[in-house]
Formats: sequence, structure tokens, C-alpha cells
Amino acid sequence: MSNAAAYALATPDGTFEKVTIERRELGPRDVLIDIAYAGICHSDIHTARNEWGRTRYPCVPGHEIAGTVAAVGAAVGRFAPGDRVGVGCMVGSCGKCGPCLADEEQYCERGAIMTYNTPVDASVQTDGHTLGGYSTQVVVGEDFVLSIPEGIGLDVAAPLLCAGITLFSPLRHWGAGPGKKVAIIGMGGLGHIGVKLAAAMGAEVTVLSHSLSKQEDGKRFGADHYYATGDKQTFRDLRGRFDLILNTVSADLPIDDYLRLLALDGTLVVLGLPEKPLSVRSFLLAGGRKSLAGSMIGGIAQTQEMLDFCAAHGIGAEIELISADEIDSAYDRVVDSDVRYRFVIDTATM
Ligand code: NAP
Ligand code: ZN
Ligand code: ZN
Repeated sequence: MSNAAAYALATPDGTFEKVTIERRELGPRDVLIDIAYAGICHSDIHTARNEWGRTRYPCVPGHEIAGTVAAVGAAVGRFAPGDRVGVGCMVGSCGKCGPCLADEEQYCERGAIMTYNTPVDASVQTDGHTLGGYSTQVVVGEDFVLSIPEGIGLDVAAPLLCAGITLFSPLRHWGAGPGKKVAIIGMGGLGHIGVKLAAAMGAEVTVLSHSLSKQEDGKRFGADHYYATGDKQTFRDLRGRFDLILNTVSADLPIDDYLRLLALDGTLVVLGLPEKPLSVRSFLLAGGRKSLAGSMIGGIAQTQEMLDFCAAHGIGAEIELISADEIDSAYDRVVDSDVRYRFVIDTATM
């Protein structure tokens, strides 16, 4: 066992407090990571505030982790002390089911072990559930550790571990590239990286944001077009336009309005995860043979592919670096869409 500093919530309406947690003893295939940076994903907020109703406390969120290897178990072959590494949303899966064998561990039939809030026995985490990256150290099995290529700063790489792969995976799955018209709804943490990735893949990229206030940034990230969804004219102008729409919005949206923006055979992919069920008019799917789909992060192999792609294209997140005692106010600002574009905690302040 080793001790690490962490920031935890004891109750859904509490504030983050500094605590000491235990990380497990290094097993033969484990990697001990000194965490340098942890991104704040909106899923951390949904979880910490128990908006999905399944949160275990104390809650230490954080699944956008970047740092360096401090030590490795005797059988670890791929990593050595000093290596630049990352950890995303998962730290384990069964490894035997169809999805796991197909490198889609996020869809493990037994349920992947998520980086925080998954019940585990004391050999994994003494608190009975996994505790995430708002912490100075973490122990993770080597199969779930990613290499962060030279050329991307660890601070701007951290958000790629969730936000990056969550956009990269559906962009690849639905074939974003030259000749494809892709729209991204919501230019927050996920959305802004989606704009950069889709542009680097060669797609024609449109941002659908609730106002034009971030338009200049959107163009700088590679968007060809930028529209305000607060303006009804947008929905008239863009009718039937897109092959692929990725919805990254963390709040309820009138999905029907966006289905009307799809071209024949177009697909609208749900990435944002508000608590309320969606309502969809069936005629809007049938007419135009449209698909309504979803996508959850991405597998480990594809996460590495995404990091390598980002290094090759000079892509990192746009971040605001904060100290650990600013997490509560950062959460409020994320909920108010007042962040450009990802808060990242500097764990040296813990
Ligand atoms: P975020 O940084 O808060 O971005 C969400 C964006 O949605 C905002 O920047 C804003 O964009 C837009 N938005 C927010 N409230 C809105 C409202 N009331 N009406 C219209 N637009 C609104 O959050 P994030 O970290 O990118 O995460 C977004 C969602 O994805 C969350 O629900 C999160 O849980 C989920 N998520 C899913 C996966 C997955 O695997 N599927 C992975 C990670 C996160 P504009 O200002 O541009 O309008
Ligand atoms: Zn996330
Ligand atoms: Zn599995």
C-alpha cells in the first residue's frame, strides 16, 4: 500500500476536501503513476453530484489523467520509470468477452472497471470502489495505461484521455473524412476537441453552439461553419445538410430539430448524457432513413491511436489550469458553459 493525496466529495451537495487515500501495492503487471494533471469532465460533475443516481462516496472523480511512471511491477514490459503516460475512463475489463477481444473494452459484457465509482474488492482499492485521478498517484494495470507521445504537453494531453477518445471513436466509426459534412453540437470540453479532430480528418465541420460567442475560437480550431442554435433561422438554413451530427450537449435538447438537419442516411450520435430520457418523433427517423445512435468513449487500442493521431496533427486540448482548491468553483463554471475549454487540475497543488 502507498498513500496518496486526493480531493474527495463525501456527499452529493458537499464541497471537495483534501483527503489521504491508499493505493494498492504494486502487483506484477501494475504501473504506479505520479499524476501531474487531471482534467475535469462533465461526467465527473454528473457523478460527483449524483445526477445519475449511482454514486458511491467518498467520491474521487477524474478520468483524464496524465503523468509519469514512478515504478513498475516485475512483469511489466511496456513501461519504465519516467515514461509519459495517461489513464482514461477504464482501468480494467474481463478481457475474454466478444467486445474485449475486439478491442472494445468499454462495451465489456461484464461491465468495464471504470477509473472511479466502480465497486471492487479490497485488493484493488481499500475503499470498496475505484477512486479516480483528482489525486497525486494511482496504480493501474499496464493494459489500461496509455503512452503519451513526445510533442504533446501532459497538461493539454490529459483531456484527450476522455474527451478526445469520445469524439475520435464515433468520427472514425461513421467515417468522417473528405467529402463528409459533420456537425458538432456544443463546443465545450468534448466539442472543441471534436472540431479539431474532424477538421484534421478532412471533414467539412460545422459547429452548432447556443450562441455565436465562441465563433472565432471555433474557426481557429478548424470549423468551416459556425451557427447559433438560439436562432431559429439556423434550423431552416441547415435542413437536410449533414451526414453525421455528434451531440455533445450535457443538457436536454429537442432532438427532433436536429434530426431534420440530417441528409438521407445521416446519423445523429448521442454523446452527451443528461439524466432525462430522449423523446423522438418516429416520422423524422423513417423519412430520410436516418439513424439515431450512441457511442461511449473508445477502446484502449483506439485511445492510443487517437493520442498518436493528435501528436501527428499537433492537437491538444485548450485548457485553463487550476489548483486543487478551485475544483468546486470550476464545476459551477462548467455547468454555466463558462470554460474555454477544459479545466485541468495541477496536482502539484495537492
Ligand atoms: P461541457 O464542457 O460542459 O460541454 C457541454 C457543452 O454543451 C457546453 O459547452 C455548451 O456548448 C453545451 N450546453 C450546455 N448546456 C446547454 C444547454 N442547456 N442548452 C444547450 N447547450 C448546452 O461538457 P463535456 O465535458 O464536453 O461533456 C458533455 C456531455 O458528454 C456530458 O453530459 C458528459 O457526461 C458526456 N460525456 C459522454 C461521454 C461518452 O462516452 N458518451 C464521455 C464523456 C462525457 P455551447 O456553449 O457551444 O452551446
Ligand atoms: Zn469524461
Ligand atoms: Zn469483457
